[in-house]
Amino acid sequence: MIFTIAVVLLVFLVSLFLLKTRYANLNVLTGLDDLERLGKFPPNKNKKYKHAIVCGGSIAGLLSARVLLDHFERVTIIDQDDILTLVKNDVPQPRNCVPQQYFTHAVHSLFTTSVENLFPGIGAYYVEQGAHPVDYGDWKWYFYTGWFVTRKIGKTLMVATRPLIEHGVRKFLYKSYSERINTLCGSVVGMIAEDGSDMVDGICVRLKNSDTETKIFGDFVVDATGKASKGVKWLKELGYEEPPSDEYDAFVSYAARVYKKPEISPIDEVMQPLAVLSHPHSGIARNGYVFETENKQILATFIGLSKEAPPSTNFEEWASGFPVPYLYDSIKHLEPVTSVRTLKAGKNRILFYDQVKTPSNFAAVGDALSNFNPTYGQGLSCAALGALTLDVAFRETDLKSLSQNYFNKMKWRLFITWNLPKALDQGYPNTSPKTPNLMMAVLKMMLPPVFKGACHSKLVSSKFFSFLSLSGSPLEFLDIFVLRDLVKCAFRR
Ligand SMILES: Cc1cc2nc3c(=O)[nH]c(=O)nc-3n(C[C@H](O)[C@H](O)[C@H](O)COP(=O)(O)OP(=O)(O)OC[C@H]3O[C@@H](n4cnc5c(N)ncnc54)[C@H](O)[C@@H]3O)c2cc1C
Repeated sequence: MIFTIAVVLLVFLVSLFLLKTRYANLNVLTGLDDLERLGKFPPNKNKKYKHAIVCGGSIAGLLSARVLLDHFERVTIIDQDDILTLVKNDVPQPRNCVPQQYFTHAVHSLFTTSVENLFPGIGAYYVEQGAHPVDYGDWKWYFYTGWFVTRKIGKTLMVATRPLIEHGVRKFLYKSYSERINTLCGSVVGMIAEDGSDMVDGICVRLKNSDTETKIFGDFVVDATGKASKGVKWLKELGYEEPPSDEYDAFVSYAARVYKKPEISPIDEVMQPLAVLSHPHSGIARNGYVFETENKQILATFIGLSKEAPPSTNFEEWASGFPVPYLYDSIKHLEPVTSVRTLKAGKNRILFYDQVKTPSNFAAVGDALSNFNPTYGQGLSCAALGALTLDVAFRETDLKSLSQNYFNKMKWRLFITWNLPKALDQGYPNTSPKTPNLMMAVLKMMLPPVFKGACHSKLVSSKFFSFLSLSGSPLEFLDIFVLRDLVKCAFRR
């Protein structure tokens, strides 16, 4: 058995090594090779275009608006929620149209680096407001193989409430650009275009407190309306073909509760964030996060996969069903501040707009383009990546070929982030539909040795975290010392 694992491991690593000789960095393959430069381009003094329309004023919409302001004289943002009032109130607060706001939002370094590039100083603002950027190596990680041994990797996985993360982006955007932003509250119901044109002319909106539809004209339209996006329907109404998509349900359910941080704990010392994560081959389908958010509060989020659902009653007891007692132990004596909130995550979907004709002045970003199993915490980072890629597309091309340039880039940029979690999720018994593929088979072989290695080797765990942060390449595993540790660990009992 051990011999087989070692042989499989060696064969796989040698083939990866061969690959590495051709591609020094897998980021080239995934189109992420310009990650360091993204968002750092000098602002365009002379705007090329007049007016962009952003449908949806959440993270993806706000970040897209920020990059579009480098290319357009003005931007209109439309959201179902009243964004302007949130800007005026100037405090992080929950709002109606983001049901995920009560649950864990751990933010990978791809997001924090991207927003810092777009809004210098925002990282310091988050910390000032009580967010905790914690080095991946300073988290306490339990995977089904055991506790990871860790060391700092120089990248952080920030913990904060979702309202704070969103408020920071909104505040920084409006602080610097409010004069060039027109903000509307209403529901986008469609797009408009002249017959036979390859471009859209604008959108149709039902503004709040109005029974009639208003047309808004613009040179560019972004769909940032999230998971419930009707972008495909709007395009079909204009005669465009529906893009192919990849869609599956891992039957993920969330439950979360906020607790008061106990007075007896050293109040200035931030609680070490705790993550207990399952894996299909562990036979366990429960994940859990407990960490300190702003306002000295502790947020506990439990996640059931494959039709396991954490309950709204007996929430704390459910935590005692994990293979290790730490989640339960960390909350059992805490005083709850809220009731238990639950949410079914629903299906995950990615749209392949690159494979069909789209209006040349249209883009979809964030969850409207790809929404992932939220357990892996990729959503905000990919929303930022979409906005930054839009910026690159604008710098490379004009409105006539913008859409295809953008969607072609995003296809590669999202390749690993979509396929890797999907391959993992396919291993859970109730995931539907099942679409076995090569990546699944490779993962099935590779993950156990990597997880086992990370329980014994800080080098292996640091490479794993670098990859998890969405800014490292899987080829980092080809480091000769990592290979040595992986092989050594494969023989350990
Ligand atoms: C339970 C859960 C936990 C998650 N945890 C994490 C995590 O830890 N880390 C992470 O990175 N990501 C996480 N995510 C994913 C993350 O929340 C999303 O990827 C992110 O919010 C996507 O941003 P968005 O702007 O595309 O969409 P959303 O934030 O969903 O916003 C869509 C916006 O569009 C507006 N809108 C919708 N329809 C219309 C319309 N017709 N007209 C006008 N406006 C409209 C809505 O009002 C809303 O403001 C989690 C998601 C869930 C469900």
